[in-house]
Amino acid sequence: MRQELLEKMKEFALLHNVPILREPSTVVLTEAAHSKCPTRVLEIGTAIGYSSLLIASEMQPHGQIISIDIDEERQKIARQFFTQSELTVTLELLLGDANALIGGLTGCFDFVFIDAAKGQYVNYLKALLPHLETGAVIVADNVLFRGWVKGGVKPPRRYRTIVKRLREYLAIVNGTDQFQTKLYDVGDGVAVSRYLGSAQKGAVRQGDDNE
Ligand code: SAM
Repeated sequence: MRQELLEKMKEFALLHNVPILREPSTVVLTEAAHSKCPTRVLEIGTAIGYSSLLIASEMQPHGQIISIDIDEERQKIARQFFTQSELTVTLELLLGDANALIGGLTGCFDFVFIDAAKGQYVNYLKALLPHLETGAVIVADNVLFRGWVKGGVKPPRRYRTIVKRLREYLAIVNGTDQFQTKLYDVGDGVAVSRYLGSAQKGAVRQGDDNE
């Protein structure tokens, strides 16, 4: 049933040109969610709820996902698909710009999936910090962005800011004692980070400038 639904969602995404997680990245996301078995998840970038369903399938049965997207039509579709899943996990959809909405969230999350505006990952991360449980897992997709983040090949001018900001994101999750990160060079690049707590040396804090 779940596999059938996922296939239906993939077909829908292809037909309607909706970007969803690529196959190799689904493996990384599913494994990370499976080993954490989270109870409260924040997803940034719902689209049609494909990744929401993947995560929900690995959660505690009465867990909650809060998922943010700026596109109302996509979220409507996500709700319809999720209803068909028969999962007991609650999916709460928040409509709007993630940068504006994260600050208004209450409570803590033990799993976060970042898959929205690539130039905003650092801002999302900083806004998220007060909402992370120690030990929380953060999965971020597209962190190698078409291979340009690794260097070697120069990105076209219009993508340079995104590439620079994704490098900043990786520098934070790889280079501070606050996070322990594994980078997967699959799909468009996926970073899986564990949040070790705010008391770590060199900790990045909300409001720190990233320019
Ligand atoms: N995670 C989804 C999946 O794999 O099924 C795919 C998400 S898609 C790659 C990225 C989504 O982020 C889009 O649906 C887009 O509308 C949303 N998005 C882009 N910028 C955003 C922003 N500033 N705030 C909230 N959502 C945003």
